[in-house]
Amino acid sequence: MKIAPLIRELSLVRSPAFDMLIFFVTGRCNSRCRHCFYWRNLGAIYEGLSLEAIETISRTMPVFSTLLLSGGEPTLRMDLPQIVEIFKRNNQIQSVSVPTNGLRFEAIATLARQISELDTGLLVTFNVSIDGFAEIHDHIRGVSGAYDLAMKTLHALRQVALEYDNFRILVNTVICAENYDQIIDFAEYIKSSGLVDGHFFEIVRGDPPEDGMKAVPSAQLKAIYQKLVPLQETYLVSMGRRRRRGLLRVWRRIADVGNLINRYQHQWGVYSQGAIWDFPCLAGEGIGVIDYNGQLRICELRDQYVDLSDYQYNFAQAWNSEVIRQECATARTHVCDCTHTCFIGLGARQNFHARFLKAPWLYLLYKMGKGW
Ligand code: SF4
Ligand code: SF4
Repeated sequence: MKIAPLIRELSLVRSPAFDMLIFFVTGRCNSRCRHCFYWRNLGAIYEGLSLEAIETISRTMPVFSTLLLSGGEPTLRMDLPQIVEIFKRNNQIQSVSVPTNGLRFEAIATLARQISELDTGLLVTFNVSIDGFAEIHDHIRGVSGAYDLAMKTLHALRQVALEYDNFRILVNTVICAENYDQIIDFAEYIKSSGLVDGHFFEIVRGDPPEDGMKAVPSAQLKAIYQKLVPLQETYLVSMGRRRRRGLLRVWRRIADVGNLINRYQHQWGVYSQGAIWDFPCLAGEGIGVIDYNGQLRICELRDQYVDLSDYQYNFAQAWNSEVIRQECATARTHVCDCTHTCFIGLGARQNFHARFLKAPWLYLLYKMGKGW
């Protein structure tokens, strides 16, 4: 058994300080979702940054692991492969993630292929957003026929997954007031379809266009999270099986499932009890956010930003500005604890207690059938 990967996995200093960029590549979107946290930034004229500006940003960034391309609808940019290539070349990214509403299945499959063939060592994930069965999904997304198109996208992407070992498909579902009562049935349906490698869930966040979308009853939300864990465990185990061996695989199973439970507990606590995280938020340290118009922020939910054009798109200089440093300090104080999966995940991964004590403990309780 190789011991080096296990030591690296258990090391406290396991990743560079900067680990993930969330990049809103466009403000255009062909959907009108009633739970969208980004709806104020959407518009047909909001094209996104030029490849030239992106090249400068990337060249002035450190090496980092994960690029999350967001929007708007990122797949409306057919130069997405060029954008990924820029970050692969300059920042040696190891994985790229593309969320999509799945409305243009042929174009989405073409982009998935082009990105996957850039480098077989790059893990490429397309996350198709589906919020429930046809009627509810179409209603939430504000597009008639959106569900059928999203399912066609899953089938088209499955074909890509057969061609490229480095490609995987996830479904993302936003839990909101209009779908919470069908989440478990829908999760079981997607699982039984055999089309996807994972299914993830996010409680509606931010300030959606319709206030009522956030009215998910506390007790039901907790019950949903508890029922989702075993369903998601099967995905996590099979993903781990593809990539890990021996003791590392055993540890990852404990860590992945324990972290999932920990995240759900935090999301439920913040959402329905006004609780705070039991580790600091590392927004602005481990993760940064660039909007379609070049505004740089520590996360999508805070308003303060610096404009990269004021720094000639030099990321390093903008990142070290007083505004961003002050925002980092504020994030650590828990004044704005939220339910954002990426930031809870990063904070927990970098926290000794959460990672090495709480996650294994939660896994043990779960295996013993004890609830929370
Ligand atoms: S949630 Fe995504 S797909 Fe829906 S309107 Fe917002 S940006 Fe577009
Ligand atoms: S806790 Fe949430 S809102 Fe506050 S800085 Fe972190 S990610 Fe942003």
